[in-house]
Amino acid sequence: MSYPALVPHWIAGVEVTPTTAPGATPGQPSDSTTFEKRNPANDQVIAQVARGGAAEVAHALSSAAGAAAEWARTPVPKRGAILGRAAQLLREREAQFGNIVQAETGKPWKNAVAEVASSADLAIFMEGEGSRLYGKTLPSPIPNRSVQTLRSPIGICAAIMPFNSPLAGVAWKVFPALLCGNAVVVKSHELTPYTAVAVGQLLKDAGVPLGVYNAVQGFGPDAGAPLVQDDRVGVVSFTGSSATGKLIQKMVSERGVLAKVCLELGGKNPFVVCDDADIELAADLAVASAFIDAGQRCASGSRIVVFDRVYDAFRSAFLARVAKVKVGSGADDECGPVISRASLDRLIGQVEGAVTRGATLVAGGRQAPGLAPGYYMQPTVLEQVSPTDDVSQHELFGPVTCLYRVNGFDDAVTLANGTHYGLTGAIHTTSLHRAQEFIARYQGGLVSINGATYGAGPHMPFGGVKNSGNGFREPGTEALDVYTELKTVVINHVPGKA
Ligand code: NAD
Repeated sequence: MSYPALVPHWIAGVEVTPTTAPGATPGQPSDSTTFEKRNPANDQVIAQVARGGAAEVAHALSSAAGAAAEWARTPVPKRGAILGRAAQLLREREAQFGNIVQAETGKPWKNAVAEVASSADLAIFMEGEGSRLYGKTLPSPIPNRSVQTLRSPIGICAAIMPFNSPLAGVAWKVFPALLCGNAVVVKSHELTPYTAVAVGQLLKDAGVPLGVYNAVQGFGPDAGAPLVQDDRVGVVSFTGSSATGKLIQKMVSERGVLAKVCLELGGKNPFVVCDDADIELAADLAVASAFIDAGQRCASGSRIVVFDRVYDAFRSAFLARVAKVKVGSGADDECGPVISRASLDRLIGQVEGAVTRGATLVAGGRQAPGLAPGYYMQPTVLEQVSPTDDVSQHELFGPVTCLYRVNGFDDAVTLANGTHYGLTGAIHTTSLHRAQEFIARYQGGLVSINGATYGAGPHMPFGGVKNSGNGFREPGTEALDVYTELKTVVINHVPGKA
């Protein structure tokens, strides 16, 4: 399957385009129009995308509502087995999904297919949960009474997507939501629209009944907002920026009926290098943390905090590696393009702004030469940045990182905790005591000792604190807490004696 000229919605198990949507005159577009999808690697328009709004959302929600009850009654091991088949199909279709992810994001091939592998692994993990989905048996203080907890499906899940890992993003939400017995309506990211449709075909082929999985295309205010605001949606699972996450939370709180809201948001992740660190290892992993996926990772290492005593040694080891990062989308390349022209222009402007306010640019800062019109940015490093500057405080979501010099451990922890984010943090040290102190004192959802700022697996709960999340974790068995309601069941065995 190549990339289609017109990216449709996926509703009730079929592709829906502006000419086939309900209310459209055959052969004529409905109210829904289209927008362009460009390949970030070369700025070419590769498709028109159906621009969904309230009508398409209503269609998708009716489809989900019609299918939800029967799916919820399907035995959990059977739902798990369907996800197992989906994993097998994903592996068989690795090249197809790799091509879609690469066309949408421009990321290097190895990173595109890594998404396929990790998504298949997640489906396998969730298949296993189909044989568990444990509740509890609780003791009763009253004779002839038993108490247990069950995990019940919630009903309809709205899953709102970011752009940076389109396939993993869909898998991370949809596989656990389906395992738990929910029907799903995905709102694709407008910059990576087709992945969720290809997943629709995959799930249909794996045996997911029609209507259980749906995907609507469109922009946030047009297609995301009516989905979030609909009282039929029982759980809103959102991954994206902290600003949009707060807006989603507000929209749900203003509905007639509340819903569970799971927010997986941005990060401004510190990478601390102590004076007892392995400097070469730290330099390798700082580069990977900052520049893989062009820094468009919630867990990217965007603040590198280095002890004064090793600052110069680390700086030269780090900058030597930064100069060698291979920018491009080829087989050996490491740092792909950013997602859009607007993103590239914004990033260059933010770096220029920081320099105007006193920062020193020590690497990059411009569009990568020779790769235009692709949206490739040079791996960029800033120094002498105030910890209170805009680029220190806000997630940039691009291949830009800052170096900070600190006197010692306490200053490093203060700086690490000195933003409104709290997603991941890494520390490089051979001191067990320092490592333990960092684990205890860093305010974040993931701490990495002598590693990169990122690190995820199907069994590992991932999420943040402060403006990086609202307490939920995906995936792992903790994802089951997002997509089920706990029901406490009290049974009196001898009616009349209770
Ligand atoms: P974004 O907030 O701009 O958009 C995310 C989604 O929200 C898109 O689908 C968008 O269309 C939708 N949206 C926008 N306005 C909306 C509205 N008014 N109502 C409903 N939906 C709306 O984020 P982005 O730039 O696309 O994604 C990057 C962000 O995602 C970064 O902040 C990154 O850190 C974060 N992220 C977090 C994790 C995590 O697990 N914590 C993982 C990946 C990405």
